[in-house]
Amino acid sequence: MNKLILNAGREKSLKRRHPWVFSGAIAQVEGEPASGETVEVRSSAGELLALAAYSPRSQIRARVWTWGDVEIDASFFAKRIEDAASVRAALRIDKAGDAMRVVHGESDGLPGVVADRYGETAVMQILSAGPERWREAIADGLSALPGIARVWERSDADVRELEGLEPRSGLARGSPLPGAPVIHEHGLKFKVEIDAGHKTGFYLDQRDNRLLLRKLAAGKDVLDCFSYTGGFAINALSGGAKSVLAIDSSALALDRARENAKLNGLPDAEWLEADVFKSLRLLRDQGRSFDAIVLDPPKFAPTAAHAERASRAYKDINLFAFKMLRPGGFLMTFSCSGGVSAELFQKIVAGAALDAGVDARIETWLHAAADHPVALNFPEGEYLKGLLCRVSS
Ligand code: SAH
Repeated sequence: MNKLILNAGREKSLKRRHPWVFSGAIAQVEGEPASGETVEVRSSAGELLALAAYSPRSQIRARVWTWGDVEIDASFFAKRIEDAASVRAALRIDKAGDAMRVVHGESDGLPGVVADRYGETAVMQILSAGPERWREAIADGLSALPGIARVWERSDADVRELEGLEPRSGLARGSPLPGAPVIHEHGLKFKVEIDAGHKTGFYLDQRDNRLLLRKLAAGKDVLDCFSYTGGFAINALSGGAKSVLAIDSSALALDRARENAKLNGLPDAEWLEADVFKSLRLLRDQGRSFDAIVLDPPKFAPTAAHAERASRAYKDINLFAFKMLRPGGFLMTFSCSGGVSAELFQKIVAGAALDAGVDARIETWLHAAADHPVALNFPEGEYLKGLLCRVSS
C-alpha cells in the first residue's frame, strides 16, 4: 500500500486521534496514490498510525478511515453505516419523527460523508476525495438501511472545490422521487426541498431546540431571525404564540415556510425577506419589542482564523436582540462556527447583554440533537452550541 511518512513529531495529533493529516505534516509520499486512495500513515520512525484517504489537492491531505488494521473495502462502509444507524436506533431518535441524520462525518468514522434521512429518502453528501472514490459502496450502504426507498445525492457543497471535485446531485439509488418529502418532527410537518434547499434540505440538528421554543411560546410575541423554511417560527405558532415575525434573506426559503405553516393548519406568521443585521436595527428604531427572540445564523467562522470577525457579528445581533427583549423575555441564541468555542460564545453573549444594559442569565445550554455526535479531539467539527437566556423581569 502507498504510504505517507510524517515529519518527526507530527504523529502527535494522530496519536490523540485527530482524524486529519495536514500537508505540512508530511515528509514524504511513497508511491503514487490516486485521489481518494487508501494510504498508510506512518510516523518518521516507521510506526503505522492509521489508514487514511488521500486528498492530493487539499491542504487536508489525508483523512483517517481507521486507527486499527481493518481492510478498507465496500464492507467497511456498509458496517460503518450500519453502526451509525444502530446508534440512532438505540437512542430512539425515531421517537421524535421520521427524519434524522444517519451519518455525521468524522463523528461517525466517515470523514467527508453526511447523510440525512427524510422518511424513506436518504440524502447523501460526499465532500472529499476519499468517500468520492467509495461513492458506490456508500450509496449501497445507505440504500440497504431498513425503510429506505431511495438515495438522493447532494454532493454540491463548495468544499468539494478544495478537493478538485465537480458538483454532483440527483438520484443515486432506488425509485424516482415522487415529490418533495414531507417529514414529521415532534408532531409537526415540514416539506423538505432536498434538491434545492440548503445542504441536504433541512437543519435537523435544531429539532429539540425548536420543540423547546414551542413549549415556551404561548401568548408571546416571537421574533425568529434566520428562519430558513420556518423551523422555529412554525413551532412558535404551534405553541400558541400571539404573533410571530420571521426574517430570512432567502425569498425561496420563506415561500417554503409559508407552505409549511399551511401544511400544519397554523395561522400565518409575518414573513420578512431581509438582512437580519439591518432589520434588527430597523426594528429597534421602530421601538419594537418581543417576548422571545431566536438567533440561528449561518456559520460566521468556518475556522479559528475567522473568529474575530465572527465574534463581532455575533455580538452585534445578540446586542440588538437583548435591546428588544421585554422584561422576562427569552433569547435563544446559537452558533455553529467551528472557529468559535462554546466558552467564547458565552463570553460574547454575556458582553452583548452588558452593553444592552440588561440583566440576563443562562437558563440552559442548548445542543444539537443526539443524532449529531461530536468526535472527541476534533475541534474543527462543526457543532451547534447555543444558550437559552432570560432577561430579568
Ligand atoms: N433556523 C432555521 C435554520 C437557519 S439556517 C431552521 O430551524 O430551519 C440560516 C439561514 O440564514 C438561511 O436560511 C439563510 O438564508 C439565512 N441568512 C444568512 N445570512 C442572512 C442574513 N444576513 N440575513 C438574513 N438571513 C440570512
